[in-house]
Amino acid sequence: MSKPIAWGCLFLLAVVGATAKAKDVQTEILIRVKTDGNIPVMLLAPAKAEASAVLLKAGIRVRWETAGRRDSNALRECAGGVADVIDVLVTERAGRKENPGALGHALPFARFGVRVVIFYDRVAAMQTPPSTAILGFAMAHEIGHVLIGIDSHTLAGVMRAHWDELDYARMFAHVLAFAPEDAEAMRRRVSQKSRFCLEAGTASAAVTGESHIPSLVSPSQLAYPAGERER
Ligand SMILES: [Zn+2]
Repeated sequence: MSKPIAWGCLFLLAVVGATAKAKDVQTEILIRVKTDGNIPVMLLAPAKAEASAVLLKAGIRVRWETAGRRDSNALRECAGGVADVIDVLVTERAGRKENPGALGHALPFARFGVRVVIFYDRVAAMQTPPSTAILGFAMAHEIGHVLIGIDSHTLAGVMRAHWDELDYARMFAHVLAFAPEDAEAMRRRVSQKSRFCLEAGTASAAVTGESHIPSLVSPSQLAYPAGERER
């Protein structure tokens, strides 16, 4: 008796798995950017392109949207045909309580709302005119925290805790990349979310706002790229 039951279970699993075929699982995310203060559009556009390029090299496709007045809770993961929606705030001035060396921070364990904040004044203070490459890589770094779901760093690439001169040189040459393990972690997590969306049904998740993706524990503020740039 046990064998037919076992085969039945396997068959069911196979059917469920077939609803989220590898070819259907996509790794596109939506990033909605809003600004606070005087952020030059002429800098923001190439910075977004820089972030897109380095994320694409890691296997993550990005669709950008300028955040309007719509509440960020209105569109979550699974909605709009993307695996995840990340709200990014580029603010003109970092708060006094922010880590002095950080170019931004992320909330990798939050599920929605503004999960990435970039401090434009600190980016602008590094070079004149402000570097779109640094702005773009700062965005990619913080978005990386959210996509991987970690508040820690790795020893190489975009997700280093502190970028050194070689990292900046690679940024300016547009060749700095996510470490392979970070890229793999991002792809795996985004694919999991995409698979969840396919199996749960995009419409119901979007309408109810419900999600069963395990991620939320507690918000955690981050500090990162600091050290070397202050030399
Ligand atoms: Zn970081």
